[in-house]
Parts: sequence; structure tokens; C-alpha cells
Amino acid sequence: MLSVNEAEGIILDLVRVLDSVKDIETVDLENALGRILATDVIGKLDFPHWDNSAMDGYAVRYADVKDCSEDSPINLEVITEIAAGDRPKESIQSKQAARIFTGAMLPEGTDTIVIQENTIREGDTVTILAAPKLEEFVRHQGAFYQAGTPILQGGVQIGAPEIAVLATAQCTQLSVYRRPRVAILSTGDELVTPEQPLQPGQIVDSNQYALASFVAQNGGIPIKFGIVPDRPKVLKEYILKAIESADIVLSTGGVSVGDYDYVDRILAELSGTLHICSVAVKPGKPLTVATFDDNNCLYFGIPGNPVSALVSCWRFVQPALRRLSGLNNYQPRFVTATTSYDLKAAGRRETYLWGQLHLVNDNYEFALAGGSHSSGNLINLAQTNGLAIVPVGEKLITAGSKVKVMLID
Ligand code: AMP
Ligand code: MG
Repeated sequence: MLSVNEAEGIILDLVRVLDSVKDIETVDLENALGRILATDVIGKLDFPHWDNSAMDGYAVRYADVKDCSEDSPINLEVITEIAAGDRPKESIQSKQAARIFTGAMLPEGTDTIVIQENTIREGDTVTILAAPKLEEFVRHQGAFYQAGTPILQGGVQIGAPEIAVLATAQCTQLSVYRRPRVAILSTGDELVTPEQPLQPGQIVDSNQYALASFVAQNGGIPIKFGIVPDRPKVLKEYILKAIESADIVLSTGGVSVGDYDYVDRILAELSGTLHICSVAVKPGKPLTVATFDDNNCLYFGIPGNPVSALVSCWRFVQPALRRLSGLNNYQPRFVTATTSYDLKAAGRRETYLWGQLHLVNDNYEFALAGGSHSSGNLINLAQTNGLAIVPVGEKLITAGSKVKVMLID
């Protein structure tokens, strides 16, 4: 059986990142949140756009005021006032100053701002009481960014700060990767939708909903194929359709060793290459990963147990989906935490235990979810934001000890 790290390595090697030329679309800034830039964005404006004042005060010529102090103040004639948004009309000569406000453009002839706290104003005269530094409180044109260079790199995800940068640079049409299409199939004769009345023996298909939400949270487009019965012929038709229509297929159920577990066999019949058939992980051991010669689809056959399904998605599908989306250098995030409870495992497989991570006095503490940690119990999975990892070979991490925890976004 493959280790978790081996399986992760194989999966990442199989990922075919979307093409930065073919797999793109243009979105406007309003709709860019969460999208991933396909190419570098080159701005056409310097930032700051022009020399401007960082403070309220007076724009002066440094040479006029460089030697002044409270004991030998210097008087300057205030010949104009410039507010933010004004375009200065006058040029400032020696012994003159301009009243200026934060963000306003520096007038010609000036090079330094004296803050108003260091001045006394009487009529058209301002008395400078302290020598500023040369160019003090001047934000120079292009000091933070020069037009013509990349302002944002391809492969970054657009969040609030990137939106601010793009807005400032007046980059309103953006080339982003299309969202990956992810087909979701729930296999199992026992499954019904949440709307259907439950008959004895039936189980509600929670995976379809969980996985569609997971995909959407990770920037993909979920394509719901619904419930597929455990009948090889029908299952094969669905799987073929899914493979042909998606970048990634996620099927749940039918990958174990039971009599009705047909997925692996069907994938082989469809000329799939099975790269992974099981992983030494708990929950989620019977994970199947396949690719197909005829198209670029990456297939994940995920165990049906609802907890196994989500843990498999977090641990294995998420890095693949994120990388495939064009996101540069996506990595799962791990922290070291102190566990508040004993963490038990059988020792043969890398074991993921769900619960909540809290910051207490600057340290992470992991609180194991209460109740059963059976892979069939999805009830206590709610509010999970971390998975504590018990490595292979360990059977107990005692309360108060350190544990590695994977963060769930
Ligand atoms: P399987 O992997 O098909 O052997 O299923 C393992 C367990 O997960 C069984 O108890 C199934 O009833 C349950 N299960 C399978 N698929 C789903 C699903 N889509 N939603 C909820 N439970 C499921
Ligand atoms: Mg099944």
C-alpha cells in the first residue's frame, strides 16, 4: 500500500495544469474575486501616479528651510492652496510655499513637505519652526510601482488586496483561468436524495452535496451527475460521460472489495490507467486514481463513507484541483498544535482525526471532535477546521503532546 506522501506525489505528478493560453477567459474586475490570473498583469500607470503629499502641511523648497529651527524660524509666502484632486497651477519660487493636503499633487518647484504641526500661519505667511528632511513626506511618482513591469504575476489568486491593486492600476479586464469542471457521481443502490422519503435500508446521498460544496469552495464548477446505481452497464455509461465532460471526476462508493464495488473494473475497461488503488490512510484507504489516454481527465474513485469522502477530498483532491486550476505552488497547510485529548490510532495507517483548532495564548490547541471517530459518522464532522495526523507506527498521542494538524479552509 502506498503511503500518504507517495500517493500525494503521484497525484501531483498526474495533474495537467490548465493551459495559460487555451484555458482562459476574460472577466471584469467586479467578477474577478477568487479567480486565478492566467498571465502577468502589466500596469500602464506609475504608482503613486504623481508626486504627492503624505501629510497635511506646506509644500516648500528644501533649500529655503533646511537651516530653520524654533530659535531661527523662516517665513515663507503662501501663494496657493492645493487640495487632493487639484491640479497645481502655480510654480513655487524661492521663499514661497503652497498650502497642501494629504494626497494632493506637489506643485512645481517644491521638493519637501513641512507638516502643519511645525508651522504657524498668519494671513499669507507661514512660519516654519523646524527643518524637515529633504523630500520628507513626499510620495514620489513610481516609488511603489513603475508602469510596464508586472504588477501581479500569473498564477496568483485574486483576493481583496489584489482587487485593490488591480483597481488602482485601472486593470479592469483580466485574463483568468477558466474554472475547472469537476464531475461528481454518487454510486450506490442504497442512495436517495435528501428530498426523497427514506425507505428502510436506504441512505441519504450526502456526498453529492458535500463534494459539490467542496469543489465550489475550491474554485471549481461542480457538475452533479447524481446517484448512479450499482449496475455495471449504467455505471459505465455515467463514468464515460463524466470523463468526457470534466477535468476531474469524483465518484464516491464502489471502490472497495465488496461484490458491488465495480468502479475500478469499469475504469480498466475504459482503458484507464490505475495509478493508485489504495493508500495507507485512515479514513479513506480504498482510494482509486486513474487517468485516460484519450483525454486529460483525472479520476478519483473515493470511498463512499461520508467522512472518508471528505477527508480524501481535503487530503488528496484539493491539492490536485488547486494546482490544476493554475494556482502557483499550492500546498496543503499544516501546523503544530497541542492536543487537548488523547489521540488514538491502530498504527498501521496514517490516521486523520477531525476536530477543531483554536489559538490559545499564541499556541494552537487541537480539540478532537466529540463522539465516534468512525468513518461512517459524519455528524461530528461539522465545524471541523483541522485534521490531526497520527503517523504510521504510532498508536497514541497523549493529551498535552504536540501533534501535526492539517488546516481545513
Ligand atoms: P461503499 O464505499 O460504496 O462501500 O460505501 C461505504 C459506505 O458509505 C456505505 O455505508 C454506504 O452506504 C455509504 N455511502 C456510499 N455512498 C454514499 C453517499 N453518496 N452519501 C452517503 N453515504 C454513502
Ligand atoms: Mg457502495
